[in-house]
Amino acid sequence: MSDRKYLIAANWKMNPAPQGALAKDSPYRTLSSVDVWVFPTYLDLQPCIEAGLITGAQLGSSAANGAHTGDVSMTMLTELKCRSVLCGHSERRHGRHETNEEVIAQTIAALEAGLHPIVCVGETAKQREAGEEKEVVKKQLEGLPVESRILIAYEPVWAIGTGKTATPAQAQEMHASIRSLLPKDVRDSTRILYGGSVKPDNAEELLRQKDIDGALVGGASLKPDEFQKIVSAAQMR
Ligand code: PEP
Repeated sequence: MSDRKYLIAANWKMNPAPQGALAKDSPYRTLSSVDVWVFPTYLDLQPCIEAGLITGAQLGSSAANGAHTGDVSMTMLTELKCRSVLCGHSERRHGRHETNEEVIAQTIAALEAGLHPIVCVGETAKQREAGEEKEVVKKQLEGLPVESRILIAYEPVWAIGTGKTATPAQAQEMHASIRSLLPKDVRDSTRILYGGSVKPDNAEELLRQKDIDGALVGGASLKPDEFQKIVSAAQMR
């Protein structure tokens, strides 16, 4: 039995913090039994941190400082008291053409700044149809300096925001494959989250899989009652 603690992470994308998110009884507060982290827009980082939520940014720059208009450095996030940062979310890889190399550079910068990066990987529908999903994910992980502060999120691109979820068996197979690629000293301790249309009605079965250590939740994290149910599913595990 692994002692990896479940983590349910809320990716609010380009949306305001949900109603009541900062309240004392908010479902976005971390628990002793389950870690709960939130990823708001830059504008909401400070209010979330001041309200006592464990907070991460949706993006940080691989550059340390200088002429990078619009960017925010990893050190700035640490100074603000962010705990984490998403690296390589598919909406950045595919929507903003971030390469594997750029994602690795962001991850290194995040580690150097003392953050706990969540590195997102996953294949497109076309790549899965061609049977290339494991190869694609392996490539995305190449060069990643895996150490104890890194978390990985397997998010098949075809499942993000589409209402289509990987079956628990498909997700478990990929999570096991990812785990087998990790260096021995962190193989058992690294948390691998699943992301892609996680909802109250599929969370429990996904979280029951041996190598699934939590969820990165987009759409359902904007609805406090749905998010609460997903957190409760993790508490029951
Ligand atoms: C995400 O934003 O990482 C995500 C998985 O979104 P959704 O839950 O809406 O598919």
